[in-house]
Amino acid sequence: MLIDQHHRIHDYLRISLTDNCNLRCFYCMPNEDYHFMPHQQLMQPDEILKIAKTFVDLGVKKIRLTGGEPLVRKDAAEIIQSLGTLGVDLSITTNGTRVELFLDQLQAAGIKSINISLDTLQREKFQLITGRDLFHKVHDNIAALMQRGFKIKLNVVVVKGLNEQEILEFVSLTKDQPITVRFIEFMPFDGNKWNSDKLVTWQEMLQQIENKHLLTPIVTSVNDTSKYYAVDGHQGNLAFITTMSAPFCSTCNRIRLTADGKIKNCLFSESESDLLGTLRSGGDLTQLIRGAIWDKHAALGGQFSKEFEKIDANSLHNRSMIAIGG
Ligand code: SAM
Ligand code: SF4
Repeated sequence: MLIDQHHRIHDYLRISLTDNCNLRCFYCMPNEDYHFMPHQQLMQPDEILKIAKTFVDLGVKKIRLTGGEPLVRKDAAEIIQSLGTLGVDLSITTNGTRVELFLDQLQAAGIKSINISLDTLQREKFQLITGRDLFHKVHDNIAALMQRGFKIKLNVVVVKGLNEQEILEFVSLTKDQPITVRFIEFMPFDGNKWNSDKLVTWQEMLQQIENKHLLTPIVTSVNDTSKYYAVDGHQGNLAFITTMSAPFCSTCNRIRLTADGKIKNCLFSESESDLLGTLRSGGDLTQLIRGAIWDKHAALGGQFSKEFEKIDANSLHNRSMIAIGG
């Protein structure tokens, strides 16, 4: 069992496969000149499997693959296939632009639920946010995944002045489709020019939606980062990820592993533990993992105030989101 000094049990590992991506979302990637990690610096498929097995032996029950974009990695299929043998709840977060190339492999690995990021339903705005004209791909791939029976959660990062006017259109998607739309509060990471004026809080989103729809809270697992709601008369659900205005650190069960094999015990942690280096030098992985989890701060990496209005994004010491793995 992996436990920290605040008595939280950690059984959910998020593995970043790469910091590379075929999109350029402004809130995630600092700029077009960002230098991706060289291949030899990344965990290789056999190393990922060995590390993942070690975590499973220590009590991890759920693994999510993320990035960067996990499906731009050439050996993604091999990695997905090998992790599918571990008997854990395996899932993936993807931008959805390359999913059509992996449908069989995702299914064969036992993946049942897929998180797809999509912040707008307008082609031009998609290009503005991501720097690429690939809205049609994501749209078609969501349909292809649903046809195959995958459960879909749409991740929508809401940024003031950019897409909060589309919230009700996203809610409409849940009317006749069994999808969950998750609205995510915009978070500060290295180079993403966050400030509190750009934040749309979940209370503001909720108010906008409740003006039009009857919502009923859904009780989920204690470790869930999302607050779930049923929409009266809709097949799908809504959820809010309230990291900034209502952090959920007291029940956190998450461990993050960057693509270069560093443990981050929190999305906002400044410190990292070099698991890949330890593996390559023949060191004790279990001891390193236990220590890294034990040291976890009580909340938000110990870096910022729970009052988001007081956060100075420039004073944070962290990677950009693309280099952490969301
Ligand atoms: N490329 C994949 C994707 O876009 O889904 C996986 C990696 S991405 C970093 C994981 C999630 O983090 C996405 O849903 C993305 O929208 C979210 N994300 C990235 N930067 C964020 C930020 N500054 N605030 C909130 N969520 C963010
Ligand atoms: Fe790429 Fe996902 Fe980051 Fe967008 S959010 S730049 S798709 S890693």
